[in-house]
Amino acid sequence: MDTCKYHPAQTASWHCPRCAMNLCTACVIQDERSALPKCTLCRGDVHTLGISQVVTPFWQRLPAFFAYGFQGSALKFTLGMTAATVLASLLPVIGMFLLIAICAVAVRYLFAITERTAQGELEPPSVSQVAGGGGYGILFKQLAVFLFLGLLVGGVMSTFGQGAGLAVYIFAILGYPASTMLLAATGSFRQAVNPIAIVEVMRGIGWPYVILYAFLILLSFSSFWVLGFVLAVLPLWLAAPAAMAVSLYFSVLMFNMMGYALYQYHHELGLPIRREVVLRNLSPVRAETAKPAVSNALAEADVMIKEGRYEQALQALQSALNQDLDNVDAAVKRYQLLLAMGKSDAALATLDELFQTLLAKRQGRRALALLREALGKNPDYRPGRGEHAHALAREAHHAKDDRLALRLLLNLHKRYPGFGEVPKAYLLAAHILSERLKDDAQAMRLLEFVDAHYPQAPEAEEVAIYLKALRAVSGIPGTVG
Ligand SMILES: [Zn+2]
Ligand SMILES: [Zn+2]
Repeated sequence: MDTCKYHPAQTASWHCPRCAMNLCTACVIQDERSALPKCTLCRGDVHTLGISQVVTPFWQRLPAFFAYGFQGSALKFTLGMTAATVLASLLPVIGMFLLIAICAVAVRYLFAITERTAQGELEPPSVSQVAGGGGYGILFKQLAVFLFLGLLVGGVMSTFGQGAGLAVYIFAILGYPASTMLLAATGSFRQAVNPIAIVEVMRGIGWPYVILYAFLILLSFSSFWVLGFVLAVLPLWLAAPAAMAVSLYFSVLMFNMMGYALYQYHHELGLPIRREVVLRNLSPVRAETAKPAVSNALAEADVMIKEGRYEQALQALQSALNQDLDNVDAAVKRYQLLLAMGKSDAALATLDELFQTLLAKRQGRRALALLREALGKNPDYRPGRGEHAHALAREAHHAKDDRLALRLLLNLHKRYPGFGEVPKAYLLAAHILSERLKDDAQAMRLLEFVDAHYPQAPEAEEVAIYLKALRAVSGIPGTVG
């Protein structure tokens, strides 16, 4: 399985021939205007790596197969062939030739269904176009395959014994769908009886081949069951054409299913498929993966970071931010990238904006994580705004990181002269000092400071009560108040 160069756990859907690498859907650039995604590194066109990951797998579209048999041309085929058979049975001599012709057209049409479906054409082909289009050799090739297998089993049995004959017989039975699919896809008798090619088809499809096989067997049984029912219930003159129609309907279904399996696994099977067909059938996928410019820029930044092209990553992030100022992901990524590049000053310069956005979006924890990274680079760093320092201190207090909370709170009034919530912030600091760090003396000093300098603050009363309580507990007489 091809995996994405940048996400080794992810199945790759695209291949860039210029960069010689595989990419997942998250790692390509795609806007609404371009039909195909572009390589993030070189901006060149990428090739599809098969669609088995993106189209509906055949085992999930059973209703679509049953519906196919009732669609326009397929229904015309079933009814037309049935009517022609009834007519042939009424005509002596000419009827015989007519029956042979009917057989030829029926086989030709069934194979055309597989061929077209394998090419991603999910509507039944027109009967007249197929019938008039030649290619009847397929009928003889299919007969030749049966004849060859029969002779092979007989030959092996008489030469190497019954066991060997039985083994070949079982292989032929198990490989029959693969052989039919090969005959439809390549039109080659040699491919259809080539055991290596047959095993390759089984391997290319993998375990789903077993599912396909089970479905085909179930459909055959269903066909027999309906046939039995028809023959038992209907009068003979009606039962024969009805049985014919039932067999044809189920055959259409099975050939459609085999074609779809070829289509789904065309990449794995090494079958050519037209580019526009892939595109057409990818369109619903395309609509859902078409990314807004910002996500494209973010995807590009990710790829560039993994490639070690940091300047380009920075540019991509900048363009993401130019298009969406509030994009926290881009801003956080830019901050972390700048830190990683050793541009601490530039990184820290972006932090105030980031705190503003994150705190407004109630993403305090994330803001706290960024602060810790900043302190890791520069222990003297402090947020540029008092209200951010206060909010982050509360966040740190919640996270039980009291040392960090105090680091942010102490000397707040000096560091942020215009900050209006000093009393509230110092009250929090006093609580932390007294209750968590058992430093009542320091707590009281803070409270005394608030008591002395902010007598009009809403917290003044609370501060006074707290101060009184602390003095009582510690037995230290007050110096103020
Ligand atoms: Zn990827
Ligand atoms: Zn490329």
